Amino acid sequence: MTRYALTSDSSVSVEVVSASLACCTLELQAALNSGALTRVSEGGTGPSVIVIAGTVTDALVPSVLELIHSYPGAKVMSFGACATSGGPYWDSPPVSKGIDQFVEVTAYVAGCPPRPDAFIQAIQEISSDRVF
Ligand code: SF4
Repeated sequence: MTRYALTSDSSVSVEVVSASLACCTLELQAALNSGALTRVSEGGTGPSVIVIAGTVTDALVPSVLELIHSYPGAKVMSFGACATSGGPYWDSPPVSKGIDQFVEVTAYVAGCPPRPDAFIQAIQEISSDRVF
């Protein structure tokens, strides 16, 4: 696990763990490596943010919940249209219609795929405890 600080404000730092699913996995990596965040250390006490990025099928829901429940206190971010609503696969029976149907979500990052700056904005808002 890696701790990142905002490059523009090192007082804001987060530790991110990701359930990386489908194409949003690459988009999240692009956001993490966009230059807006700086790696400050390896390891730590646990993530402050769990990012659910990509398409969640009903079959994957137990694994996603297991990941989330293994880090009590971490805030959940729904990254991309698929995690938030099923995205372009909303009418596919095996696809979940949004992770907020089974877990509390603190931040939603819109887009298919989301832009890196939308992810950074969500990190800033989570870090400042703004409620969406
Ligand atoms: S939101 Fe778009 S880019 Fe992200 S996993 Fe779904 S289809 Fe892929």
